[in-house]
Amino acid sequence: MSDADSCVFCQIVRGALPATKVYEDERTLAFMDIQPASHGHTLVISKAHAANLLELAEPDLLAAAATTQRIARAITKALAPDGLRIAQLNGAAAGQTVFHYHVHLIPAWEGQRVAIHGRERAKPQELAALAAQIQAALTS
Ligand code: AMP
Ligand code: ZN
Repeated sequence: MSDADSCVFCQIVRGALPATKVYEDERTLAFMDIQPASHGHTLVISKAHAANLLELAEPDLLAAAATTQRIARAITKALAPDGLRIAQLNGAAAGQTVFHYHVHLIPAWEGQRVAIHGRERAKPQELAALAAQIQAALTS
């Protein structure tokens, strides 16, 4: 079995696992983090499997950067956070837990301490409502 066969994010790309999708293009996919660190925590991934930044092909990196900016603008428009934390972890020692390249977009509000990982799974209907808000901001 290859890394990509067992990879959770590859399974989402293939449609073998559900995700609350926000945006998709040829090279990238954005969906709601299942265990959000804050309201609106979204992940941008490359569709191609690469464990981390070090392994990612440049065209996929550039596409992920463009999608990250697009989603960052949509989150800002939809949810009006005071700030937006963008994080990308490489290796278990850095805190990475899913070994398929992804970027965290974590909205931040004044007075709330914001981590990179959340502690509890979000309710599916809450994630769907947030995804719809962000999607609406993408198209408006
Ligand atoms: P990292 O520690 O940078 O590898 O982050 C992995 C992120 O993926 C965590 O924030 C998890 O909550 C999130 N995650 C893991 N599995 C899923 C999934 N099936 N759908 C959405 N997010 C996920
Ligand atoms: Zn993968």
